[in-house]
Amino acid sequence: MRLNIVCIPGDGIGPEIVREAKKVLDRVADKYGHEICYKDILMGGASIDVHGVPLTDEAIAEAKAADAVLMGSIGGDTNTSPWYQLPPNLRPEAGLLKIRKALNLFANLRPAYLYPELAAACPLKEEISSAGFDMLIMRELTGGLYFGERKTIEENGIRKAIDTLTYDENEIRRIAVKGFEIARKRKHKVTSVDKANVLDSSRLWRAVVNEVAKDYPDVKVEHMLVDNCAMQLVKDPAQFDVILTENMFGDILSDEASMVTGSIGMLSSASLNDTRFGLYEPSHGSAPDIAGKDIANPIATVLSAAMMLRYTFDLDKEADSIEQAVKKVLEDGFRTGDIMSAGCTKVGCSQMGDLLAERI
Ligand code: NAD
Repeated sequence: MRLNIVCIPGDGIGPEIVREAKKVLDRVADKYGHEICYKDILMGGASIDVHGVPLTDEAIAEAKAADAVLMGSIGGDTNTSPWYQLPPNLRPEAGLLKIRKALNLFANLRPAYLYPELAAACPLKEEISSAGFDMLIMRELTGGLYFGERKTIEENGIRKAIDTLTYDENEIRRIAVKGFEIARKRKHKVTSVDKANVLDSSRLWRAVVNEVAKDYPDVKVEHMLVDNCAMQLVKDPAQFDVILTENMFGDILSDEASMVTGSIGMLSSASLNDTRFGLYEPSHGSAPDIAGKDIANPIATVLSAAMMLRYTFDLDKEADSIEQAVKKVLEDGFRTGDIMSAGCTKVGCSQMGDLLAERI
């Protein structure tokens, strides 16, 4: 297969971690007989330095023409970088919002998996973490409270703020379909999370999810209130496969799920639209404090590349080979500084990439 991938190395550790992800992808392509065509575009601070804006229209056109985008991370030190003296619409993060909008990326996926070798980093009690967990939070990314009408007014000398939470059935249906499709590639279970005991938008959410579920009889569906879900994530995370939820609940729950793994350098993510196109990136930022030192952990980006193979290209075997290589490298005792523990061998970013590629 020919894979057309646009890469956004970005800022900080971005170029280092994307280089290692390409190294691993190239090894996969060699082994399984695929041809990868890469094209780099600038975004964030790197684009501001060259073009004066965080993302050009030409760069967006390049991204649209590709099958998928693999991104490192963007942004600098928000206290010291001159990029943060610019007006908000010209700062690095504005590029991210612009590309998400231009590509209509409405579904955000964040897996949270506990590697047995990294269980010591998990903040949960051992009796809970010993069961392990492997879940994926599917968050609606372009609707709900963050995109509704809002205003602050003054009534009789009292300040009043209003935010509106709106979802229509089409917005709910398209993310629910994605959730069920992805559950079919995993453990065939969807937990839809809402606040249907209070909110109308949640009652519609629940009704539409049930309608969509009829087309997926092989996928088990359950509904959970968001407050209960927040508790269950720390009480019994092993029960979850795909957690399907709206924008604000997903924002909060995906951070909670990330934290229970305890390892920020290991967490991948994907943002998808209603075609097979996706933007794949690690969940962490550009870590300017360690940039250029060859000590960043590239695994989150490498695992994002595995998600790209699975969800955009339907190359499950190839994606499995990357995930297995990550497990093997950890079993063999190799660690970057952020996940280092006693008795293991400490390696840098580029050596970690080599070790992963060797295990494909
Ligand atoms: P961060 O995730 O970059 O760093 C937080 C801490 O985790 C730092 O100590 C860092 O060294 C460490 N860390 C992060 N990734 C690591 C890795 N792969 N290996 C080893 N250690 C790692 O968060 P921050 O410091 O709050 O943000 C830095 C910049 O990143 C800011 O400009 C922020 O806006 C940007 N950011 C970008 C994205 C994105 O591009 N999607 C997401 C989050 C933050």
